[in-house]
Amino acid sequence: MFKKILIANRGEIAVRVIKTCRRMGVQTVVVYSDADANSMAVEMADEAVHIGPSPAAESYLVADKIIEAVKATGAEAIHPGFGFLSENPGFAKRLEEEGIGWIGPNAFAIDAMGDKISSKKLAAEAGVSTVPGHMGLIEDTKEAVKISKDIGYPVMIKASAGGGGKGIRVAYNDKDVEEGFPAVKAEAKSSFGDDRVFIEKFILEPRHIEIQVLGDKHGNCIYLNERECSIQRRNQKVIEEAPSPLLDPETRKKMGEQAVALAKAVNYDSAGTVEFVVSGKDKGFYFLEMNTRLQVEHPVTELITGVDLVEQMLRVASGEKLAIKQSDIGINGWAVESRVYAEDPYRNFLPSIGRLKRFHPPGEGKLGEGEVRMDSGVREGDEISMFYDPMIAKLITWGKDRDTALDAHGEALDRFHIEGIQDNIPFIAAVMDEKRFRSGNITTAYIKDEFPEGFDGVPPTETQETQLICAAAYVHGFLSRRAALTSGRMAPVPEARREWVVILGDKQYPVTLDLGGDGDAEITIDGGKTHTLVTDWVPGQHLVEGTLDGKTFAVKFADRTEGYVFRHRGVALRALVCTPQIAELHARLPEKPKPDTSKLIISPMPGLVVSIDVELDQEVQEGEAVCVVEAMKMQNIIRAEATGTVKAINVSAGDSVAADEIMVEFA
Ligand code: ADP
Ligand code: ADP
Ligand code: MG
Repeated sequence: MFKKILIANRGEIAVRVIKTCRRMGVQTVVVYSDADANSMAVEMADEAVHIGPSPAAESYLVADKIIEAVKATGAEAIHPGFGFLSENPGFAKRLEEEGIGWIGPNAFAIDAMGDKISSKKLAAEAGVSTVPGHMGLIEDTKEAVKISKDIGYPVMIKASAGGGGKGIRVAYNDKDVEEGFPAVKAEAKSSFGDDRVFIEKFILEPRHIEIQVLGDKHGNCIYLNERECSIQRRNQKVIEEAPSPLLDPETRKKMGEQAVALAKAVNYDSAGTVEFVVSGKDKGFYFLEMNTRLQVEHPVTELITGVDLVEQMLRVASGEKLAIKQSDIGINGWAVESRVYAEDPYRNFLPSIGRLKRFHPPGEGKLGEGEVRMDSGVREGDEISMFYDPMIAKLITWGKDRDTALDAHGEALDRFHIEGIQDNIPFIAAVMDEKRFRSGNITTAYIKDEFPEGFDGVPPTETQETQLICAAAYVHGFLSRRAALTSGRMAPVPEARREWVVILGDKQYPVTLDLGGDGDAEITIDGGKTHTLVTDWVPGQHLVEGTLDGKTFAVKFADRTEGYVFRHRGVALRALVCTPQIAELHARLPEKPKPDTSKLIISPMPGLVVSIDVELDQEVQEGEAVCVVEAMKMQNIIRAEATGTVKAINVSAGDSVAADEIMVEFA
């Protein structure tokens, strides 16, 4: 086994690899850019080597710098994590030449699987079921239309070099192909520098189901069941689970055996994933592509199989024979992962950047009937920068069955508290409770189908409203009583029983609060039923956990200046608590008019201007694209809110912009 390895990655996955290395007694070196100088991975690793400025192209993607770091520290091998250099055959080849170990598959396998057309051909030869379609290159639009007709609509037009959901388009008729084919070709050229395009059948009711494989350098290869990753937004996975609610044991076995056949065809000798699209209609499955690396969603497989995939990668890379046989692999319970992204679900999932004022993940270990695992790469106080992927943590829960795992997931999300940036937790939580997701009847179009207008929060149930009112009244009553008790000798001892008003939006709820002495209170809302609340909350905590009328609940609070913000599942509400006199004045406050920003194009986040798509004095229609700003690997098109004439352009392509910077002004 290696004594020391270097991790050529950052964030959550670097931390994940360090954890296993520590357990195995392997020393770790991480490399880091300027932005990551104080990161959790740097703190946890035994050694850290600075490799340059924040942009990945000047640090994490520079092979020379990483090889230099290996030589300087005496590390024997590199774990690439995912992204960055992990699927770069040239890099793997170079390490081989330099005599540096590679904790990944051989360069030939990476290369063979890196291209969709050639890997599809290889898969077909290995007896793997592939999507019906045209395997060759297509010269022009006329030929594309003919091929599409032969395949039968709908079809999918794909860039052979594509990845990350780019360069893909569905076509339902000739006209779609006439438009789509040149568009995909152009996108492929600009994104991948390779304009080869092919066409295949679009699988109806598509589900994304992938098989985890694991091979060694001695010709052994096994599969570790499937993961279902159909919950995607813009082809980006959001929630993954294992096993899949769709598969039966026979289909699983067939898919697993085909995945292994393909892996063996390229002498696959590490952990890898064979992706399939599976039709929800008839469980027909078809090979999509192979990812020749550790996958983001690998923890769900680890939780149901008990295999540490990073440990296995290290073992096989160091030359060990696989000690696990196919017959050792079973399915124990159910696991669900959600990706916590720094993005604002209420504003069309716009990336969100800033300092983590608070970061309180749920604790690991038992929660209710389930178990919690947290794979995170950040700590409270860390800065989330514009330079990298917006994924900051992964929450994984396990349960004896799907419902138990999903319930535990919802409860863990209720206890996951982030302030300072926007996060997608309310959105994930809403999905956890949504009927169709619960039923398991999902497809890759799930998010588009169920949230067609985007995400606008979930309206609170009556119980949630009651929980919020009671928790807010309790916290507020507790704090004001304590303030009065400590505010000086002359002040009268405050009454435990008091009248308050809780203001929720434009609704006011008169509340009688009777504070007990021991974390308990009686609360009557609007002269109705009296509720009993019990909690061990103390000032300074941002989670109120306890029971209300005997039922457990957990309510998150944020924002100390503008009231108590309640977050529970997909619900977010703001409550103000005040005396009846103040409440009366509050009701008479004139509404503050919103400033008119319709004549300004403002950068919604710090980022890099990719393009300005308007000119001075140009008339721009409402909804027309004005400019594109890139942050966290995402290009965001900023559109005009109203029709107008361009009066000023304050930035140009290549400029950095701050949040709220005025980029373009209309007359
Ligand atoms: P990428 O390299 O961008 O991941 P994939 O080939 O894996 O591209 O496809 C991305 C997603 O598009 C898949 O997860 C799947 O949901 C969907 N998809 C791909 N091919 C098809 C198809 N032929 N029919 C239906 N859906 C497909
Ligand atoms: P901390 O304990 O974190 O230092 P504070 O003691 O300042 O925070 O406040 C605790 C909570 O009280 C905060 O979440 C703040 O939003 C809330 N709060 C204070 N006064 C009011 C009020 N009048 N109405 C609603 N919420 C309030
Ligand atoms: Mg894919």
